[in-house]
Amino acid sequence: MCIGCVQKEYPDRGNTCLENGSYLMNFVGCANCHQRDFVLVSNKTSVDEDGEEIVTYLHTCKNCDHIIARHEYTFSVVDDYQEYTMLCMLCGKAEDSISVLPDDPRQTAPLF
Ligand SMILES: [Zn+2]
Ligand SMILES: [Zn+2]
Repeated sequence: MCIGCVQKEYPDRGNTCLENGSYLMNFVGCANCHQRDFVLVSNKTSVDEDGEEIVTYLHTCKNCDHIIARHEYTFSVVDDYQEYTMLCMLCGKAEDSISVLPDDPRQTAPLF
């Protein structure tokens, strides 16, 4: 992981949990090759641990394969809520919970 590649380490992202992709707003450029090239997602893995799904991957520089940050995303269901967390030096930290009940008004108005 590389502090020189990001503007801010672990920025607070509120409830924006990314399961894929990169938060390019926080990417200042590769500290190794000094290019601001595409950020690739690599070594993506997903494991299920006692009902909690943990997705991890690496953000790497397209130009030189330098590892910019390691991304961790978790998903679990606690009671009637789906809990999401994200922790990544590049993408920041965030957590969210969404009710699984059908009458949750948030479910009828998805944000994406
Ligand atoms: Zn690079
Ligand atoms: Zn990330």
